[in-house]
Amino acid sequence: MINVAELELLQSALARLAEGYEQMPDFTPDFDVDKVTDVIGRVAERMHDNYPYYHPLYAGQMLKPPHAIARIAYAMSLWVNPNNHALDGGKASSALEKECVVELGQMFGWDKPLGHLTGGGTMANLEALWIAGRLRPGKRIIASEQAHYTHKRISEVLGLPFSPIQVDYDGRLKLDHIEDLLAVDDVGTIVATLGNTGLGAVDPLPEILVLAKKYGVRVHADAAYGGYFGLANTLHDHTRAAYDSLTDVDSIVIDPHKHGLQPYGCGCVLFRDADVGHFYKHDSPFTYFSSAELHLGEISLECSRPGASAVALWATQQLYPLQKGGEFAAWLDRSLTAARDFHQSLAASPMYQPLMPPELDIVVYFPTAADAITASKRSREVFAHAAQHHLHLAMIELPVDLVRHYVPDLTANADTLTCLRSVLMKPEHADWLASIINILESYEP
Ligand SMILES: *Cc1c(COP(=O)(O)O)cnc(C)c1O
Repeated sequence: MINVAELELLQSALARLAEGYEQMPDFTPDFDVDKVTDVIGRVAERMHDNYPYYHPLYAGQMLKPPHAIARIAYAMSLWVNPNNHALDGGKASSALEKECVVELGQMFGWDKPLGHLTGGGTMANLEALWIAGRLRPGKRIIASEQAHYTHKRISEVLGLPFSPIQVDYDGRLKLDHIEDLLAVDDVGTIVATLGNTGLGAVDPLPEILVLAKKYGVRVHADAAYGGYFGLANTLHDHTRAAYDSLTDVDSIVIDPHKHGLQPYGCGCVLFRDADVGHFYKHDSPFTYFSSAELHLGEISLECSRPGASAVALWATQQLYPLQKGGEFAAWLDRSLTAARDFHQSLAASPMYQPLMPPELDIVVYFPTAADAITASKRSREVFAHAAQHHLHLAMIELPVDLVRHYVPDLTANADTLTCLRSVLMKPEHADWLASIINILESYEP
């Protein structure tokens, strides 16, 4: 689990950090080592009750361990603990954040976006839809039924009407239903999800942009999960087309703490038009914004934010630049391949029924059964059986009609079906597929 080189690197990084403060009179905060030893040991034990997220046999929810570089950089920066609200609180780390945001923008073909890191995808989407509401006051937000539930809730917070858009059997929103909604003339913003959380489906962005233009509405891309996949080399044509047209949306959300190798607390919102910055204007009573240079707190709804997140992300992007054909991109391709191979193995197995071929790296499947109720029961049994064999999966509840599209023989004696869901987001998942399948096939109904 722990590579000792990482701890040695942290120690030498801290020594380098301390060199920058050698001019200060010596001061090292003290603490009671014995007391801390006792408590920290108990904390470590309490942590046993987590699933082993770092391990490739954790093939359930969207959880990917931070890369060592991110962990070291994050931990190292805690000795300074910068706050990226204002430059007074985090001068160096604010500069790193601005550079990270430029690189993230460039990945989407944007030269001068306005953007910053956030606590996560929820906050980032909140800011994007807040700006959407300022530009289209009172107008409706629409997003796919498979979009993250946060959009409906954020719309409530912002006091904006919200409608779900129906999805096709592949989990992508239905264009004719968008057009029905647009015809009513109260829609302000369409949310397109590039990689929805449940199924990993990518909404048809080029066609959405055409409709948006025709009706004069904004397009926000929620790419919290899937944002990085535009770097991959093995996307199917329609998925590629969606990523290539991200340049034309109004705002984008991407979560470096999902596929970007970062610890939690790292989302990002980007606006194509930097002018929207004026909506953030506030009159701080503090003499806090002490220079004419941009303080990130002037363009962010959150005030205090961890400089550590920016430090970790910057280090990671140095080591793994966001480039097509690079090492980071190759890892994304490995995840795509792992998901496709896993889907094929399940399709070849008499014991399991996979649903749609994965568009990204999420595979949904269930144990073969004659009817929906039995299939759901077996999914829950497989979930428990696999966990006993140290394979950790996730479950998703899907409309039975969607499932029957892929398995027409299934008797629909319930409205929904509990399926198994595996997010194969670690590059190492590809090497562990045989073990995963073995454990799945050792289940006996
Ligand atoms: C994860 C996710 C969110 C929510 O982001 P958090 O980082 O969990 O706050 C929103 N949209 C999509 C598509 C996501 O995958």
